[in-house]
Amino acid sequence: MDAGELLKALEFAAMKHRDQRRKDEAQSPYINHPLAAVTMLWNHGVRDRVPLLAAVLHDTVEDTGTTREELATVFGEDVAAVVMEVTDDKSLPKDRRKELQVEHAPHLSSHAKLVKLADKIVNLRDLTDSPPANWSPERRAQYFVWAQTVVAGLRGVSASLEQAFDAEHARGTRGN
Ligand code: NDP
Ligand code: ZN
Repeated sequence: MDAGELLKALEFAAMKHRDQRRKDEAQSPYINHPLAAVTMLWNHGVRDRVPLLAAVLHDTVEDTGTTREELATVFGEDVAAVVMEVTDDKSLPKDRRKELQVEHAPHLSSHAKLVKLADKIVNLRDLTDSPPANWSPERRAQYFVWAQTVVAGLRGVSASLEQAFDAEHARGTRGN
């Protein structure tokens, strides 16, 4: 993986998410999240350009005005395709989007599965360490159950990431 291309993607995502914040009490800068996802992949041995770039860019289409065409022009069709695989259809109600993530997970490409695993691991970590300001314990618990159901369909691409997910899940549900 070329460092220059990774930095270009980080710069692109930072610009796209520049006016957004995460939902934690401190309203962390949004870019911390894609940065955490790509770091998670790197720390678990992923070196392929497509999943690394797609992890950096994974929320740009869903949460900013970025289009598939723009990603394809700047980063290539292969990266754009993986980002689209992990992008929810926001015209659907939230509950349906959640169901579809579970249904789609086993059919994703290996690269998209890696990105989704990293996304779910870092979101569980955030729910334990810096949760959304107004979430009840029940709502957090529901998210842990749902994330585990999605991840059941992602298994088989990285034993190391799966272990990290299981450890994060256990840490977040300990004592519940
Ligand atoms: P959201 O999808 O609105 O929020 C979760 C998402 O927020 C994460 O997947 C992550 O997505 C992003 N996020 C931003 N900041 C954080 C953070 N600090 N920690 C973790 N995630 C963060 O909420 P739900 O997943 O709860 O989806 C709504 C569902 O919740 C509905 O289906 C509804 O049924 C249910 N609900 C339950 C309630 C309850 O009290 N039990 C109340 C209201 C709704 P990303 O990586 O994409 O940024
Ligand atoms: Zn995400």
